[in-house]
Amino acid sequence: PLVLGIETSCDETGVALVRGNDLLFDAVASSMDEHARYGGIIPEVASRAHLEAMVPTIERSLGEAGVSLDEVDAIAVTAGPGLVGPLTIGVSAAKSLAVALDKPLYGVNHVIGHAAVDQLVHGEFPERVMALVVSGGHSSLLLVDDVATSVTELGSTLDDAAGEAFDKVGRLLGLPYPGGPHIDRLAREGDPTAIRFPRGLTARKDQAEHAYDFSFSGLKTAVARWVETRQDAGEAFSLEDVAASFADAVADVLTAKTIAACQRHGVDTLVVGGGFSANSQLRDMAALRCAEAGIELRIPPIRYCTDNGAMIAALGSAVVRAGVAPSDLGIGVDSSMPLTTVTV
Ligand code: ATP
Ligand code: MG
Ligand code: FE
Repeated sequence: PLVLGIETSCDETGVALVRGNDLLFDAVASSMDEHARYGGIIPEVASRAHLEAMVPTIERSLGEAGVSLDEVDAIAVTAGPGLVGPLTIGVSAAKSLAVALDKPLYGVNHVIGHAAVDQLVHGEFPERVMALVVSGGHSSLLLVDDVATSVTELGSTLDDAAGEAFDKVGRLLGLPYPGGPHIDRLAREGDPTAIRFPRGLTARKDQAEHAYDFSFSGLKTAVARWVETRQDAGEAFSLEDVAASFADAVADVLTAKTIAACQRHGVDTLVVGGGFSANSQLRDMAALRCAEAGIELRIPPIRYCTDNGAMIAALGSAVVRAGVAPSDLGIGVDSSMPLTTVTV
């Protein structure tokens, strides 16, 4: 079946067409340029941009894929988690298409889409995979028994997401928004062992309750204090070393906990998704530690890690193939949709 996927949970308007695990075309429009000058996403601005970009993006995707609307067999759309206004634009568009074409509608989970998109790149998932989804809004560890029907949340961040922590540290180091890629670049020139920053939730006392949860706000505060102390004393320091030591702490905790979860659950395939998977320190450490542990590491190319329509069409396609019942046309959106909910 040919599935059209629509994504509008944040600032990207994504529309893609997928048949099986084959991507026909993926069109993305972003309103990030409009948000950059505010130093964060403005939901109202994003909603309006989705409204304006929706039809042109659908038309571009169909045109580039060389298919017509009446060939589409099902419509998949992000129903959550995400920003309510932006999600509503996507779900409204998807409902309209479903009604007009008389085709089934599938409201799906954005975070699970970040894992599912890898099937378009590296093929169908084996029996069981571990998925680490890391972005500006999420840092979650998911045990995926079946991407269409059975996902368990092993852990997630208790405060900041990994990308969010990078952006906040970027701000305090005076880097442009979003700071993540800038810190990555500086970190590659620095010494990751220069400063020993704290590893959140790795103490023995946290093992029982928070073995697979993350916390990055203490780390962010530690970086702020370290920098302030040097500045107050008028002491020079290496921005590169601070960036490298901070990035090393984040990558260390993410990879250590993820690999421990793989070993605990006997899983030998790890999928990493979400915009933060662009991070060099995470990629390098994950590659090294997965190789040591005999775990196959799957990371899609960056353009499929950031928000896009392909991830939603990929998950929609998996859901249709699994024979899951379509969503009701009366569905709403859920800004904090649980990560165990694949479809609504
Ligand atoms: P979501 O709604 O899924 O959370 P998002 O728009 O918040 O999406 P993405 O667009 O998937 O997040 O990813 C952007 C985040 O990733 C930003 O926080 C950005 O700073 C961070 N990021 C991107 N590239 C890098 C990098 N190379 N190193 C560190 N952080 C990065
Ligand atoms: Mg984004
Ligand atoms: Fe996302």
